[in-house]
Amino acid sequence: MRALRVLAGGLCALLVAAAGPATPAGRSPFPGVPTLELLTGQAPKGSLVVRFMGTSTLLFDDGETRILIDGFFTRSETWNPFARIAPDPKAIDHAIRRAGIDRLDAILVAHSHHDHAMDSADVALLTGAELVGSRSTANIAVGRGLPRPRQTVEDRKAWTFGRFNITVIPSPHSPSLFGRPLFEGEIDAPLPQRPRMKAYREGGGYSFLIEHDGLRVLVHPSAGASPGQYRRHRADVVFLGIGSLGKQGGRFADRYWGEVVQTTQARLVIPIHWDDFTRPLTEPLRPTPWPFDRPQAGMKSVVERARNGPRLALMPLFDPVLVRPAIL
Ligand SMILES: [Zn+2]
Repeated sequence: MRALRVLAGGLCALLVAAAGPATPAGRSPFPGVPTLELLTGQAPKGSLVVRFMGTSTLLFDDGETRILIDGFFTRSETWNPFARIAPDPKAIDHAIRRAGIDRLDAILVAHSHHDHAMDSADVALLTGAELVGSRSTANIAVGRGLPRPRQTVEDRKAWTFGRFNITVIPSPHSPSLFGRPLFEGEIDAPLPQRPRMKAYREGGGYSFLIEHDGLRVLVHPSAGASPGQYRRHRADVVFLGIGSLGKQGGRFADRYWGEVVQTTQARLVIPIHWDDFTRPLTEPLRPTPWPFDRPQAGMKSVVERARNGPRLALMPLFDPVLVRPAIL
């Protein structure tokens, strides 16, 4: 297993070089899947605006309260699980300026792998946000100099910030490259300043149902689902993680679509976590290269299942979108 992972890491430079040109800004990298219309001008007072910043990093803003999911901006240029990685202040500064994040009320972290949790504590320190995540995410935060949170998502599932009511729902991680979950287990002590990538252990996975003035938005970052996990929940919009979905079979995709999209009766599905997160956010997003993923196949399986509804669309990078008109 280790040898295979090292090999995969070493292959990366070649593969990235072979992956072809990046998609021009503003155009969908997946033919047939449109990008949502941008908000131009001022948002109507109190309306919910969302921005996407790659992987499952999403900002929700109603003009009074701002909620960030994950907040991963460093996007270290490696796939090697033994590489030492750390938050990059320049990358974080660029992203939060471009997204207009001068203050934040909360950061909700889906799980503790580096592509979700690595920058969360640094962004919390810069913006004054409350960090909401697992005990493992708390140990990343303590390692970065934040005080230990009084509660984690293991203790409490309902969180309120301004007019946002958020339900935290345990949700399994997608199957990995080798059929086993990647970097399993907990981070059970504060992480050092520059740990190896594999030290960012998963620490349990979570989805977030965000309710705002009657609108229900589900952020489901990782392509796995337990039977019935959304039995009691409905959502107008689902941000659907498709990382590694293209490497699974049709039955897996059927179950995943059924549990997350059909059970919630979503009207709009927005695929996320399809982009190559070793590329910086100063460049346009590009789908993750093989063998790390097959996002074109993952997107195709989603397009096929959405043929008779719900609507399927992508988020633009950084630009604001009004959520409510997008589902009408
Ligand atoms: Zn993960």
